[in-house]
Amino acid sequence: MEIHISRSAVENNFNLIRKIVGENVRISSVVKANAYGHGIESYVPVARGSGIDHFSVFSYNEALQVYKIVKKSADIMVMGWIDSSQISDAVKKGIEFYIFNIERLEIALSDAKALKKPANIHLEVETGMNRTGFSKKDFKQALKIISDNKKHFKIKGLCSHLAGPESIANHVRVKNQIKFFNTFKSELEKQNLAAEYSHLACSAAAVCYPGSRHNLVRIGIMQYGFWSSREVFLRYLNNKTGYNNPLQRVITWKSEVMSTKTVKTGKFISYGTTYLATEDIKTAVVPVGYSFGYSRSLSNRGRVLINGVRCSVIGLVNMNMITIDVTRAGDVKPGDEVIIIGEQNDMAISVDSFSEITQQINYEILSRLSRDIPRIVVK
Ligand SMILES: *Cc1c(COP(=O)(O)O)cnc(C)c1O
Repeated sequence: MEIHISRSAVENNFNLIRKIVGENVRISSVVKANAYGHGIESYVPVARGSGIDHFSVFSYNEALQVYKIVKKSADIMVMGWIDSSQISDAVKKGIEFYIFNIERLEIALSDAKALKKPANIHLEVETGMNRTGFSKKDFKQALKIISDNKKHFKIKGLCSHLAGPESIANHVRVKNQIKFFNTFKSELEKQNLAAEYSHLACSAAAVCYPGSRHNLVRIGIMQYGFWSSREVFLRYLNNKTGYNNPLQRVITWKSEVMSTKTVKTGKFISYGTTYLATEDIKTAVVPVGYSFGYSRSLSNRGRVLINGVRCSVIGLVNMNMITIDVTRAGDVKPGDEVIIIGEQNDMAISVDSFSEITQQINYEILSRLSRDIPRIVVK
């Protein structure tokens, strides 16, 4: 079983993203959650090869994984969790991190002082997501602290996060956030401070809200070849002829047939009684299960490709195995290729087709792909 990462698809996707956001906007590749399941170790060098020199992660542990690969050749930004005890190491390595409250700012200050090296910080401000970030009042206090300790900080960024730009239902809220963000920018200037970057756009905002791009965008899902939502794709198509999807899926997930069997009519398949053979059928067992990220909710509903034929998962998805009905897939033998996500002949199984069955969004499906599956970079 393996996951293939397509280098040419990554290249294609970044070319498209560059075309959308323009030359003057820096692209940060968001590689949290093990690069959305693609595998940090495999994916980061590929993105680096496409000219990407800025990576965003959620946690400091992820930052260290990226750092091991890129060293000083790219900027690394922690958008979320960094333990207080790790801040000193981040300052030492020049790894950038979000500051979202006064407590964190004080810790960064004392570590920067002790190391005699400025902390590379991004000031996260609260614009309406109501998750993390400085309120206006705390922001003013933070700027005072920074002004009094200028040499201990490099303000790499002023940033915020939008609460759902992938859906028009959130339009008013998102618009207000983008407007409110600019008032924080003015406040910074009023204090004679400047941030190297200001950023609040994720993939959906980068496409749908040009005013949110500023000089850096944080691109996650799109680089992997998926639109944040159908709506975002339609917004992109606006004014274009045809329905060509210019993004290319980067991931292919494949396995092979482990063993085959004939099951007589009237017999149950796998645990329990959820699937009864109503005719003599031929089954193939594939070594993929929920422990690898193949959701149990795909029991009796999932599809895979074998011999270029779309075949059904029958019975419950087990921890490590699924059973497939291959009665109509011709001469299926152990060792035959099984496509779980990807293409075979002219058939395809998309990540979206999973989402339709399981109610999981593609973000969730991808990020749950087990780290144990080997990732292989292909052309
Ligand atoms: C995950 C994340 C992104 C990227 O979002 P996509 O929709 O995948 O582009 C951007 N910013 C923050 C703060 C995030 O957590």
